[in-house]
Amino acid sequence: MNKCDQLYEGKAKKVYATEDPNCVIVSYKDDATAFNGLKKGTITGKGAINNKMTNHLMKRLEANGIPTHFVEQLNDRETVVKKVSIVPLEVIIRNISAGSFAKRYGVEEGIVFAAPTIEFSYKDDDLGDPLINDSHALALGLATQAEIDLIKRYAFAVNDLLKAFMKEIGIDLVDFKLEFGKTADGTIVLADEISPDTCRLWDETTHEKLDKDRFRRDLGGAEEAYEEVMRRLMGE
Ligand code: UDP
Repeated sequence: MNKCDQLYEGKAKKVYATEDPNCVIVSYKDDATAFNGLKKGTITGKGAINNKMTNHLMKRLEANGIPTHFVEQLNDRETVVKKVSIVPLEVIIRNISAGSFAKRYGVEEGIVFAAPTIEFSYKDDDLGDPLINDSHALALGLATQAEIDLIKRYAFAVNDLLKAFMKEIGIDLVDFKLEFGKTADGTIVLADEISPDTCRLWDETTHEKLDKDRFRRDLGGAEEAYEEVMRRLMGE
């Protein structure tokens, strides 16, 4: 499949049209941003790792009953995915307190929850992706109740699976963000990416951070951390 016009450039990926109206090509960049684009940098090799890791995880989720946008990987950085309209809700699942949850509620990081939590942010950079609840999402016409219910069901199912995949390689899945899209026929599928850019991943014994917090918090070693997760996931 060939790249045609560039449709969109986001913070971490570019999206191209293809000759198939139902497919697009995503191209992963090494660019890293944090704090709604205020902090900018590069994590060398990140694009290729996130591409490979996302595809690996999407395939395993698909095999376990989660519909995804994945079609086929083309090369190191590029993958064909189903063309979807993104539901403008960032779906965040948490198993352990960290990040904005810890800050918002004034608790320390590392509290293991008895049950996972879910929250939505309205995907709008100009507004700073504000938290939003179901009834607000309905009022704004962002999704129907049936779509929201399905998205929640998928998100918790993805959590159970991802938590298990990560545990196998000695990693605690702290929290993560998912995005869902709607195909031309209205089917809801898991879209976007699943990578150390979008998940908090802590080594289960050392509690070392193996994710984008190394970049956000200037801890150093982001490249090595992304490579380490990839290496473990591929069984190398
Ligand atoms: N996250 C993301 N994109 C965003 C916001 C959050 O991928 O725009 C991920 C983030 O990497 C973490 C989880 O969602 O794994 C929860 O993030 P949180 O709400 O704690 O926000 P942050 O601390 O990143 O501002």
